[in-house]
Amino acid sequence: MTQTQTAPATDGYWRVGDEIADTKAPKGVPVQEKWSEHKAHVRLVNPANRRKMTIIVVGTGLAGGAAAATLGEAGYNVQNFCYQDSPRRAHSIAAQGGINAAKNYKNDNDSTFRLFYDTVKGGDYRARETNVYRLAEVSANIIDQCVAQGVPFAREYGGLLDNRSFGGVQVQRTFYARGQTGQQLLIGAYQSLERQVAAGTVTMHTRHEMLEVIIKDGKARGIVTRNMVTGAIEAWTGDAVVLATGGYGNVFFLSTNAMGCNNTAAWRAHRKGAYFGNPCYTQIHPTCIPVHGTSQSKLTLMSESLRNDGRIWVPKRAEDCPKDPRQIPEEDRDYYLERIYPAFGNLVPRDIASRQAKNVCDEGRGVGPKIEEVDHHTGQVVQRARGVYLDFAEAIGRLGKNAVEAKYGNLFDMYAQITGENPYETPMRIYPAVHYTMGGIWVDYDLMTTIPGLYAAGEANFSDHGANRLGASALMQGLADGYWVLPNTINDYLADAPFPKLAADDPSVVEALDSVKARIDRLLSIDGTRTVDSFHKALGVLMWEYCGMERTEEGLKYAIGEIRKLRDEFWSNVKVTGVNEDFNQTLERAGRVADFLELGELMCVDALHRRESCGGHFRAESQTEDGEALRHDDEFLYVAAWEFAGTGQPPVLHRERLVYEAIELKQRSYK
Ligand SMILES: Cc1cc2nc3c(=O)[nH]c(=O)nc-3n(C[C@H](O)[C@H](O)[C@H](O)COP(=O)(O)OP(=O)(O)OC[C@H]3O[C@@H](n4cnc5c(N)ncnc54)[C@H](O)[C@@H]3O)c2cc1C
Repeated sequence: MTQTQTAPATDGYWRVGDEIADTKAPKGVPVQEKWSEHKAHVRLVNPANRRKMTIIVVGTGLAGGAAAATLGEAGYNVQNFCYQDSPRRAHSIAAQGGINAAKNYKNDNDSTFRLFYDTVKGGDYRARETNVYRLAEVSANIIDQCVAQGVPFAREYGGLLDNRSFGGVQVQRTFYARGQTGQQLLIGAYQSLERQVAAGTVTMHTRHEMLEVIIKDGKARGIVTRNMVTGAIEAWTGDAVVLATGGYGNVFFLSTNAMGCNNTAAWRAHRKGAYFGNPCYTQIHPTCIPVHGTSQSKLTLMSESLRNDGRIWVPKRAEDCPKDPRQIPEEDRDYYLERIYPAFGNLVPRDIASRQAKNVCDEGRGVGPKIEEVDHHTGQVVQRARGVYLDFAEAIGRLGKNAVEAKYGNLFDMYAQITGENPYETPMRIYPAVHYTMGGIWVDYDLMTTIPGLYAAGEANFSDHGANRLGASALMQGLADGYWVLPNTINDYLADAPFPKLAADDPSVVEALDSVKARIDRLLSIDGTRTVDSFHKALGVLMWEYCGMERTEEGLKYAIGEIRKLRDEFWSNVKVTGVNEDFNQTLERAGRVADFLELGELMCVDALHRRESCGGHFRAESQTEDGEALRHDDEFLYVAAWEFAGTGQPPVLHRERLVYEAIELKQRSYK
């Protein structure tokens, strides 16, 4: 690991440190052979020794659940934590549309290489080539594993597993279980996990929130948790720690993520030395139910799978927008994705579909109720409709209502329940919303963070998706990390374990416990006048307006200033009711919002420093003549790995240069 240089502050917002590199992926072999080569040479731990070692896994979603089950099956002692009342309530359960795998069941010329290529291109050439190839390589194993667990993937008439398409690809490689793929996959992982719980290799701790990492002699050796029912603060120690704690989309307050999703585990690790990779890369999903009011606290996704059959359009003329869509004739409709991107049509990647939806609404051609907003260009408060149609009339005509219902029935029901409209009769209204975070804790090829012994898996790591994730690739990555990658790579580190047991009064343990207690005491003692949620909401508005679908230098600098003010006010005026020694959701939320207030600033700094557009990161100053994202590979062909430099200090940027050997760098085009 490289050391931080004390280079001068850049504009005062950040400092530049030494470059960083992944040193684990084998050198000198083609990308296709790296994973086999690596597995053949990493060190092993013999089964008798595994029993002597403890691995702490935080998270029971697809990444954490799969990792804990597999490591338990391998014979390690696993301590597994989640904040929900059951591991089965991890947010992965919400995933709807599907999981990718290069099986080529449709015989449409799919292959490992194509999945690899589509993922790198989809991420706008900002992902690490070696990791992405491995992901594509193990994708096929995941499906076999899940089928063996009994996951009820959709099947074709003849009994073979069915596939559909997701954005950014021209093949059908997405496996699905109606609109409940995440739930079914999680039940599969959960069964494996419970088997290990029964076998005694995995101990499950529900309703335990991790609030700190314990570091001894530079190595991650444990965590501190708060029991969310009793308030007990406890230390747990072991030989390695895995964070599989999900993404941080809720920094925007409104997102498709479950209300509980947060970044505290990752942020606590960041503050203790784990670099944070590409924090500004956020995915805005194009097909969500539009915001309908100011007291809303959650947004709902309508799966991307709907874009297989639904056609997206708005009226050609603004004056037609208030009309009943069924009364607007074909010639007056603008199927803008099909018009602009004839090769991919409605199945362009999410970043592109989202931006175009925003553009047509900015032009005044949005549909549905108008909402109040500030126009960035004029500073005026305006009323704008933020919605576009997702229309199934053609699909129902072609396939029949029953066939559409069989494919998407639960999604249609969900839409009808939330909006009170019948999507079989009138087109759905959709608009982009925050959905996923490509950024996360920086990891090397072994998924180890910059803290030895601390690993990150699933959405929590900075991931294989570059600047934009393709649909159905998060489930693939979470399960790849949990079932296949981590269980192979962690042995290399544990070959030097077991490490000396940490005593309860070891200074590293005492320091971590004390810092958690002090923070809780501080939150409870402020006794201000403003609610935790009002801070979160205010942060969300800033993030959405200035670090959302379009970012500018001016806007980002403004947002950083406002976030700092908000954070200062939080620590002097927040009202946290109740006590620690009880079930206290206000206290839980306060800790998470405090961390979001720091993360939000880092996201804006990252977005500010990256003076290019790539994938979901659209800098208005960097676009092609026809409004597409314009990358600057000469300057920004790197992962930005940020080091925490102390409270109130500018973070330190470490660049990891991206090297493309198997894929040629190109301007992304879906036309
Ligand atoms: C509505 C929706 C639909 C989606 N549909 C798809 C899809 O069809 N296909 C696809 O590929 N992707 C989809 N995604 C994305 C995908 O679901 C997620 O990226 C993925 O499930 C994340 O899995 P994970 O295991 O990394 O994290 P999660 O499933 O979020 O699990 C996080 C775990 O960490 C625990 N945890 C977190 N913090 C702490 C803490 N401090 N202490 C203790 N425990 C903690 C939680 O309790 C939980 O067990 C969707 C996302 C959303 C929001």
